[in-house]
Amino acid sequence: MNIKILSAAPNLYSTKRILEVAKKRKHNIEIINHTKCDIVIEKKNPCVYYKGKKIENVDAVIPRIGASVTFYGTAVVRQFEMMRCFTTTESMALVRSRDKLRSLQILSRAGLGLPKTIFTNYSKNVEGIVDQVGGAPVIIKLLEGTQGIGVILAETKKAAESVIEAFNNLQARVIVQEFIKEAGGADIRVIVIDGRVIGAMKRQGKEGEFRSNLHRGGTAEVIQLTDEEETAAIKAAKAMGLDIAGVDMLQSSRGPLILEVNSSPGLEGIETATGIDVAREIIKFIERSV
Ligand code: ADP
Ligand code: GLU
Repeated sequence: MNIKILSAAPNLYSTKRILEVAKKRKHNIEIINHTKCDIVIEKKNPCVYYKGKKIENVDAVIPRIGASVTFYGTAVVRQFEMMRCFTTTESMALVRSRDKLRSLQILSRAGLGLPKTIFTNYSKNVEGIVDQVGGAPVIIKLLEGTQGIGVILAETKKAAESVIEAFNNLQARVIVQEFIKEAGGADIRVIVIDGRVIGAMKRQGKEGEFRSNLHRGGTAEVIQLTDEEETAAIKAAKAMGLDIAGVDMLQSSRGPLILEVNSSPGLEGIETATGIDVAREIIKFIERSV
């Protein structure tokens, strides 16, 4: 098959692993920097040019679009869809997953457990907002953050008020969330591909850190999911319309609570922690689908 990885980072572990596995399985695969693609739109002849050359006969694309280039990356993925090319991540699902607020709304409708979350435009009543999510401590999240940057634990109502006010003054939009203390600074990352759980790891934040992101110094180990956790992960990926998803959840006293669903989950952490060949599962998914 002719497969293109859409990535601006050819040297990333994930990109290299997908490339390597596809070659091993005898596919014709190439990395294309989507930020250097031109989208050509005319009557009935959608095409993509890369470095001045028309891209033809593509069977499948694997979008690995960074959060900072979502708009353009999505447009390129959409163009490949117009060319009737299979994509492991649909453009609509990609856009959906990049909007934290919209994602939570969708997950809530699907009946999934979530930390109680408030978004408001009206910032005069900060006290009432903190009360509504169960009082301090609360989590405050910048809607545009990733990798744990922009996630704040406010220990007291006063602290929460000043943080929310500061963000409001900067015109930065935030959500206020119930703090799930019993998660103990850990979360679970589940990789779901094509409606099946491929692997899962538990990430633990370093000493004194409530954020478990590997980028923030967290450590990961393999974990056996409960049936409830497995079902929640599959349901979350499905609700988001993602055939490949990294579902993050917290273990709470009322069961799994979904934090977010990642549309370009990194492979390094999960493959290292579990020994599972996730790249191979991605290529096998394409082989089944095209
Ligand atoms: P990002 O997308 O930037 O990684 P997350 O929402 O996943 O942001 O939050 C980062 C980390 O902070 C999570 O992995 C989790 O360990 C911790 N965390 C986030 N929200 C909560 C919460 N409501 N209660 C307890 N811990 C949380
Ligand atoms: N972007 C990384 C992933 O999707 C985040 C890893 C982390 O720091 O938790 O796996």
